[in-house]
Amino acid sequence: MQLANYHTHTIFSDGKSNPKDYIESAIEKGLTAFGFSDHAPVLFDTSYCMPMEKLNNYLIEIDRLKFDFADRIEIYKGLEVDYIPGEVSILEDYIQSSMLDYTIGAVHFVDYWSDGKPWVIEGAEDVFQKGINEIFEGDIEAVLTRYFGLIREMVQTACPTIVAHLDRIKKQNKGEKYYSEKSSWYKKAVEQTLEMIAESKAILEINTKGVYKGVTDDFYPSTWVLKMAYEMNIPIHLASDCHHPSLITGGFDNAMKKIKKLGFKDIQLLKNGIWQPFEIERKIHFSV
Ligand SMILES: [Zn+2]
Ligand SMILES: [Zn+2]
Repeated sequence: MQLANYHTHTIFSDGKSNPKDYIESAIEKGLTAFGFSDHAPVLFDTSYCMPMEKLNNYLIEIDRLKFDFADRIEIYKGLEVDYIPGEVSILEDYIQSSMLDYTIGAVHFVDYWSDGKPWVIEGAEDVFQKGINEIFEGDIEAVLTRYFGLIREMVQTACPTIVAHLDRIKKQNKGEKYYSEKSSWYKKAVEQTLEMIAESKAILEINTKGVYKGVTDDFYPSTWVLKMAYEMNIPIHLASDCHHPSLITGGFDNAMKKIKKLGFKDIQLLKNGIWQPFEIERKIHFSV
């Protein structure tokens, strides 16, 4: 089994270290490939996206590291790109002209405040609560329906290589504070979204961050969602979405056990620049 991680963040966006530190950690942990996917610039102020003026330096830096480490590890150049209809997607000129090896598509924003600023759904809880009340009149079902609707719209109109953390919004839902994943409307929204992914060429990400951060009890997406994805034959991919070099394989051990238990036979990895399925072997060890 080849080890790799392509969902990672450095100081170019909201990560904690220089790109080189991640590569050194990846080599130490025995990874054969490593991908950078800092948050792509957006056209409004955020605390976590890369400023537009840093984009060129980021692309140059990753290309340089690709060259410098070519004999030790495969390095790939990606971006995690927000989907905000009419505003940001992988179709933007500055993304298309970046010559990326892959894109990770994510919905972190759902609709707008009355002052026209996008509502970030994964920040502080009071902001989440306020958005439900002010933008969706307190209707959590409407929030979730819109959230999954946006993911479907992204897959349909601006399909990324990888669909990031499908049910990320659940990080706000510890102890089922806002909704139950067992609700029929929730299951339907998830199922429709998976169907759309199954029809596309996109890879579904299994993201371990919520678990190793202690924010969620299960990975993104939840086990029952992964089971559905397996039945729909959706290709999967494992990522830690790390913001620090020490967490490059965070949660991978348990995630891999889960993936195998669910019956998945392979996961998608980039090899020589091409995404392809790699068989999951029985014995894999990660040092976390
Ligand atoms: Zn994300
Ligand atoms: Zn991320």
